[in-house]
This record gives sequence, C-alpha cells and structure tokens, in this order.
Amino acid sequence: MSTKHCNRCNRELPIEHFGLNNSRPDGHHYYCKECVKQYAQAYKQTPDGRQKNKTWGQAYYKTPKGLARRQWNGITHRAGKHPNYLHVEIKCTRDQYIAWAEQEIIAFLALHPNERPSVDRIDPKGHYEFGNIQIISLSENTARANRANGGEILSKEKRIARIIHQMQRFGLSLNDLAASQKS
Ligand SMILES: [Zn+2]
Repeated sequence: MSTKHCNRCNRELPIEHFGLNNSRPDGHHYYCKECVKQYAQAYKQTPDGRQKNKTWGQAYYKTPKGLARRQWNGITHRAGKHPNYLHVEIKCTRDQYIAWAEQEIIAFLALHPNERPSVDRIDPKGHYEFGNIQIISLSENTARANRANGGEILSKEKRIARIIHQMQRFGLSLNDLAASQKS
C-alpha cells in the first residue's frame, strides 16, 4: 500500500487520505484531506473568506438552478408542516423538481427579468405535483395565496382569462403561443 507524507500535520498516511489533484506530479493533493478541510474551515472564518463565501452564495442563488434549489427547500419546509400546508404533499423527487423548475425559471426570467420567480400550486387545494405547479412572480403568488385563503378558487374560465390578459400585457398573441409550442 502506498503512503504519502502530509507536510501540514507531518503524518505518513495511506494515499487514499489525500484528495485527487491532477496538477500534482503524484496525482494527489499536497495536504491530506483532513488538513484541507481544516484549512478551508479556518479560511472561511477570516474576513476575506467570509466575504468570498457570501458573494458566491448570493451570485449562486440568482442562477436558475440556485433559485430552483431554494424553491425546493421552501417547499419541503412548508408541505405537511406549515399550518396552511398540512394536507399538501410533494409528489416528485428533489432531482425531478429542480430539473423542471430550472427550465421554467429560465423561461420566466426571459419574460420578467426583474421579477422574482416563485412556485405556485395552480389548484391551491392540490399538491406539489407536475400539472399543478407553475412558476409565477412572487408578487402574483402572494396575491393568489391571499385570495385562496379568502376562499376563492379560480374557475378554469377565470384562469384562461388571466393567461390571456398576461399574454396581452406582453404583446403576445395565441399565434405566438402556438408557434412557441411547435418549435
Ligand atoms: Zn495532514
């Protein structure tokens, strides 16, 4: 069994204790995994490391995938737990949700670059499941939730009327919709 000396903790350790690093001659990190972990944690506590961690986090959560992951966290904290969501179930896996939401968020942000996308249950009595979820702006979602708590459930006709209204706001016609479905 091959071993390697760690220059930080001064231990001779089995080679598996070193992370892989293609830029090193022996294909492994200079320091052992334990030391790399300690070093990274110590760096995070410095002002420089804290700032880097923060800006990375902020930038990451603005990407469609970051937003999708944040939505999933929100869903799993609400569904079956929050008083208004006790009956609500999640009928997809995390990976399925994130794959779906990432694409939907990309499409949403193309139309509304300055709005914050959020996940909405189309039928507020229904579950988080494909067919009953859509990405809408946070402000519209809040307004919908308030109405839902007031007891109003939108009929199919009202939902269609709302979609047509939204399309007119953005200068889109049903022909545009049909064309986008074909492509
Ligand atoms: Zn070490």
